[in-house]
Amino acid sequence: MTLAPDRLDRFARHIVLPELGGAGQVALSAAHVVLVGCGGIGSPALQYLAGAGVGRLTLIDDDAVDLSNLQRQTIFAEADLGRSKAEAAADWVRRFDGAIEVRAVVGRLGGDNAAQLLEGATLVLDGCDNFATRLAVSDACVKLGVPLTSAALGRFQGQVANFAGHIEGQSCYRCFVGNAFDAEDCDTCAADGVLGAMAGWVGTFAAMHAVRVLTEGHAAMGDPQWGKVHLLDGLTPALRTMRIVKDPECRACGGN
Ligand SMILES: [Zn+2]
Repeated sequence: MTLAPDRLDRFARHIVLPELGGAGQVALSAAHVVLVGCGGIGSPALQYLAGAGVGRLTLIDDDAVDLSNLQRQTIFAEADLGRSKAEAAADWVRRFDGAIEVRAVVGRLGGDNAAQLLEGATLVLDGCDNFATRLAVSDACVKLGVPLTSAALGRFQGQVANFAGHIEGQSCYRCFVGNAFDAEDCDTCAADGVLGAMAGWVGTFAAMHAVRVLTEGHAAMGDPQWGKVHLLDGLTPALRTMRIVKDPECRACGGN
């Protein structure tokens, strides 16, 4: 795969980076990222994944754009109120870069359809708002052998990590949070609030983390840092990192 002249111009500031280069850019163009959730994390992540030239994007969300979203979900405008987030986000991508193949899935991802929705992805970026969906996404990724960039957000805190539980010795999201949260379904932003700019920080950090995975084996930046959870604190501000070891008893990835 080579890049057309207009694509070389578009991504010139990437290609000139020795850590990314032409080979890294080609890898991004060949990638298919499935975004679970087009909200606070998904919306800024989408802007920088599309900006980075990820060739194919699938956007999953069952929610509609609400006035209270606009404080942090910056791809949406007043004209989008009431529209499906997945559809409005796909329209944003089409306006931004017509060369990206984008598909909107208006629906809820759960244990019953996760594997079907995520199959064929190069990477899944999960920015949904509840534990039950995050665990369903993680379990399906382990089963399908697809790497996962997992991100979460609330108040002034965020967390971002890359997981590859399908790889021997690497942990998954379930190793991190355990089995207690499968039934939990809460929107912490509605209950506790969130600073709008935190969504930008966490979402773009997640996009950068996805780029690490997508360029693995192609560019020096391609170090996925599997199983390291980065904790972003906007109040102090500070950034801490902790390593999640594989739980040999994990019911999703323990056998790998
Ligand atoms: Zn696990």
